[in-house]
Amino acid sequence: MNQIMGIKNHLAQNQLSRDRMTRPYLNRANHFALSFFILITLGLSASVHAQGMTIQAEKEIGEQMMISVRQQFKLFNDPDLTRYMNRLGAEVQKAADSPYFDLRVFIVDDKEFNAFAAPSGLIFIHSGLINSIESEDELMSVLAHEGAHVASRHLASRIEKSTKVNIGTVALVLAGIAVGGGPLSEALIAGSMAAGTAMNLKFSRDDEEEADRLAYDWMKKMGRDTTAMLEMMRKMRRISVMQMGHVPPYLLTHPDPAQRMNYIQDLLQINPDPNARGNGAKTMTDFEFQRFSYRILTLSKEPDKLFTILQKKASSPDPKDFMARFGLAELYQKKGNFKEAETLLGEVITRYPEHPMLKTDLGICYLQAGKKDEAAKIIQESNSQDTNNEYTQYQLARVLLQKGDQAQAITLLENLLPKLPEFSRIHYLLGQAQAAQGETTLSHYHIGMQNWLEGNLKAAAIHLQEAGTNLPIDDSHQKNIREILSKIKKAERQ
Ligand SMILES: [Zn+2]
Repeated sequence: MNQIMGIKNHLAQNQLSRDRMTRPYLNRANHFALSFFILITLGLSASVHAQGMTIQAEKEIGEQMMISVRQQFKLFNDPDLTRYMNRLGAEVQKAADSPYFDLRVFIVDDKEFNAFAAPSGLIFIHSGLINSIESEDELMSVLAHEGAHVASRHLASRIEKSTKVNIGTVALVLAGIAVGGGPLSEALIAGSMAAGTAMNLKFSRDDEEEADRLAYDWMKKMGRDTTAMLEMMRKMRRISVMQMGHVPPYLLTHPDPAQRMNYIQDLLQINPDPNARGNGAKTMTDFEFQRFSYRILTLSKEPDKLFTILQKKASSPDPKDFMARFGLAELYQKKGNFKEAETLLGEVITRYPEHPMLKTDLGICYLQAGKKDEAAKIIQESNSQDTNNEYTQYQLARVLLQKGDQAQAITLLENLLPKLPEFSRIHYLLGQAQAAQGETTLSHYHIGMQNWLEGNLKAAAIHLQEAGTNLPIDDSHQKNIREILSKIKKAERQ
């Protein structure tokens, strides 16, 4: 017991200096998330010890981890941002050609410069890191690196090796960190290293180098500019200097950017990249990246502070600042100044007529201003020009619901479910729409699913049980209901 307290205090002090800048909810969040992680790890440790961690065990850890992530982390869950991240993730997945896992990328609303790969293909990128990135290729270099840890199963082999050394120590150390807080997964595990403990769950230098080399190959394969990798390392170096003693969590697990730069430079010489442009890259797909990064910026920063910066940028003649108009339009919408927002979005649409998605953005602005018919018209137009856009389809469903066209909205939303399986708002809208249609049982099902995805396990269980009892025994929803109810039961036992 004394030993536990000792580790707790030690870590708590260490944590204090590192976490001064993090938001309070994250400390709490990580506490719970990690407690969960430890329990699962311990629960599995016997079999891990005996035969190495199986893919199935790793998947189970990932799934259980997602339950606590949903409960405790603030994720940007948005069909627009998810759609973009899924596209990039699928590109890495294709290059990786890994038989083990599907990559699933999540954006965490947190100002830390951090990204991590958790067991079973889950990749988390914090908005603080995204806000420092300047091109899609830089973002890809982070995804490729994390994806390489996943495909090489580095974390699984760390957990496995550590449990072989001493399960008891793993338990104590992890429990200690749980009390002190600290970012989940790789960064958090590295935190225990920083505290001077004996165990080694941190990625080794070899793991890092393997991930960088794989990422380099994949970047080439994807036709991405590999010099973006160097640019990211430069950023890391700069950020660690700027933050004066506060080491960004990413750097705890990815130490020594200077050394990593060296071997990437060697790779560039030995194995030249035809796409290298030498400046960290501005690619053809820059429009989507810029739109994405302005959205993350306006969602994650104080609107008032951002306003002056974006106003200045938006009036700059430099073409690379043009999309600041899009960010500024988002801010005006937040302030309820729809007229200014419409004008700015109009300018962006004129500049990029080849991107109908912008019409959806304008439609949302109309909808917020109470102009339902105009909103429906322009979002329909966007949908007919770009027929496979989840973001547009979701917004169209919202407008249709507001106009009272439940049937068409339900069809659209049902089609979206498999494409955006983590997005709880689809279930929320389906729950409302089914209730309005008098389909109470289906409404319970969707409200249950919404609660499940938002981490409200009790409410989820109540609604799903209600749906399960009243739906026919051979109904297609029954299988999912049974599976989720059993996951909830298991989680509550932990
Ligand atoms: Zn790494």
